[in-house]
Amino acid sequence: MAIPIGRLAPSPTGVLHLGNARSFLLAWLSVRTRSGTVLLRIEDIDGPRVRPECTAATLDDLAWLGLTTDGDPLLQSTRLAHYAHAVSELLDAGLAYPCVCSRREIEEAGSAPHEPWQDAAPYPGTCRDRYGSIAEARRQSGRDPAVRFRVTTDAVPFHDVYRGAEPGLVRGDFVIQKRDGAPAYQLAVVVDDAASGITEVLRGDDLLASTPRQLLLYRALGLQEPQFVHVPLLVGADGRRLAKRHGDTSLRTFRGRGVTAPQLIGYLAQLSGLRPTAAACSAADLLVGFSLARVPREPAVPRAPWLPGD
Ligand code: GLU
Repeated sequence: MAIPIGRLAPSPTGVLHLGNARSFLLAWLSVRTRSGTVLLRIEDIDGPRVRPECTAATLDDLAWLGLTTDGDPLLQSTRLAHYAHAVSELLDAGLAYPCVCSRREIEEAGSAPHEPWQDAAPYPGTCRDRYGSIAEARRQSGRDPAVRFRVTTDAVPFHDVYRGAEPGLVRGDFVIQKRDGAPAYQLAVVVDDAASGITEVLRGDDLLASTPRQLLLYRALGLQEPQFVHVPLLVGADGRRLAKRHGDTSLRTFRGRGVTAPQLIGYLAQLSGLRPTAAACSAADLLVGFSLARVPREPAVPRAPWLPGD
């Protein structure tokens, strides 16, 4: 069997917290347990949300956790020409079109949609078949157009390695290039995963709804599709994705209080069903006997006091 190639793809819009660390740990274990390659990609194109200082902090946190990666990190900000090329290809093939609809709606659609509300209303198709080219759209509307992918199906069913058969519902035409010319998350992630030869995309299930869109892009661009694995997130006591509102779970803060990497990994291992207790261990210690099937289906809820020594 071919050697698996996975990736860790942090967005430097904040520092790593327990939730990211757990998804990255699982992504790393899943590939390394089969002696595969793990690449690192910094998703630093999400406009004003990116905080440059978070890139170095993220690299440092991943190294501290022992999640080794292969080769140099790939920065999306260095790959803009590749995204622009893919967008032109889709425009030329009539599979995408310029759209001048409101900035707010388009900006909301442009980031990785981690919250269901960001994905709420399907685009009504106002600009479909309205303009022949970006230049024409700009001339006639006086606005900088975004580019949308034309969706001609309701669903792209797919097999998720962890979840099994997924219906893959798609709701409406989605943005692949924002009005300022920056690529949208959906496009950049596909172009990069394909260019890097990624065979396994393991990420939190908050991105599950993105996968059918990404599959449409793989097919439209004639690219090789990876396998997808969506794992449950860590959530707060209120059942929502672990975030600042649940308290400070950043790795920086734990490290500052003297929590060691083996303590943190041990804690995540127990939360993830990989070990019966939270006894300190390294990420590499978890490779033997690792199986995704042991990760509980229900979202795990870490509770303060989070860690020994905390
Ligand atoms: N960078 C994205 C995020 O942090 C993840 C992208 C992906 O795994 O597809 O939300």
